[in-house]
Amino acid sequence: MALEFSVEPTPTPTPPGRLEEILAAPGFGKHYTDHMVTVRWTPATGWYDARVRPYGPLEIDPATHIFHYGQSIFEGFKAYSQPDGGIATFRPEVNGARFQRSAERLALPPLPIEDFVDAADKLIRQDAVWVPTRGEDSLYLRPFMIATEVGLGVRPAQDVTFMVIASPAGAYFAAGDKQVAIWLSEDYTRAAPGGTGAAKCGGNYAASLVAQQEAIENGCEQVLFLDAVERRWVEELGGMNLWLVFDDGRIVTPELTGTILEGVTRDAIKTIAAELGRDVEERRVDIDEWRKGVDTGQITEVFACGTAAVIASIGDLRWRGGQVRLPEATPVAGAIRTALVDLQHGRVPDPHNWLHRVP
Ligand SMILES: *Cc1c(COP(=O)(O)O)cnc(C)c1O
Repeated sequence: MALEFSVEPTPTPTPPGRLEEILAAPGFGKHYTDHMVTVRWTPATGWYDARVRPYGPLEIDPATHIFHYGQSIFEGFKAYSQPDGGIATFRPEVNGARFQRSAERLALPPLPIEDFVDAADKLIRQDAVWVPTRGEDSLYLRPFMIATEVGLGVRPAQDVTFMVIASPAGAYFAAGDKQVAIWLSEDYTRAAPGGTGAAKCGGNYAASLVAQQEAIENGCEQVLFLDAVERRWVEELGGMNLWLVFDDGRIVTPELTGTILEGVTRDAIKTIAAELGRDVEERRVDIDEWRKGVDTGQITEVFACGTAAVIASIGDLRWRGGQVRLPEATPVAGAIRTALVDLQHGRVPDPHNWLHRVP
């Protein structure tokens, strides 16, 4: 049976003038809407106490599992204002399905996809004035699940909380005009076979930050991880999947091996790139193929993709003692980006029914 949400409106909504200021330059993950969703779970009750309530801090016992054993998963997707004044999210049920897989891997209780989508819908509806209407801006939804059992004994938590918060988001980069430099991590890996690489969990990010720090120290914005076994196969960035564009019409993304996060953007790009006439390949990519391909000119573009930034073109690939630089022109990434963003904002037809209208 679907969850019933109670709604407690905030007594102190953000004043319209302040909201206007925030939406004029939202940035990313800096401001939060007036409400949030909380739902609780125990083995005895299942999911219960579903609430849309005023946004605010939680009071949590210091011995709560999440602080010690890191049992936490999250999702990220966006709501877009539509030309007819409505609001739509992009394939939220795909995020819901991934959230279930992440939950399984982290020994957390799977939330029905229907409730996942409904929780976000309820929050978006409650905070509809927070959905940006400017250009490429959107409302970023952050569902997450944490172990809220109190106790230091190590076991899968018997008390769990699911939440959704929302944050207005500006465009990360203007259409294809900013290339990022990435650092090839040779000392650290992100995910090993049998590990949690395919789950969207906080722990994966925690483990990637030291490599991210190294990237920044070397003048790069992002870090590229190779596979943990042979240290040879290109996997992904800390939080984005990768695509390589070849001069003969092929576009290649590393195949899902169990250690790569299955991105919703990556999946949409498979379809869009094919529609734009590209031959889409999913296979293993040797890091030397990248280096040599750039040198010979066979690889013309490399870009990263994810919900937050949509598409980020990569300029430099750097490593200890070397680097290769890609051309500045990124027509393929640009065309794919435009097609995807236009679809999300309802400016072009949606032949695959990817948009979910928020009721
Ligand atoms: C979330 C995430 C992505 C991108 O997934 P999208 O569904 O496209 O946003 C890629 N890699 C990692 C590690 C991620 O956590």
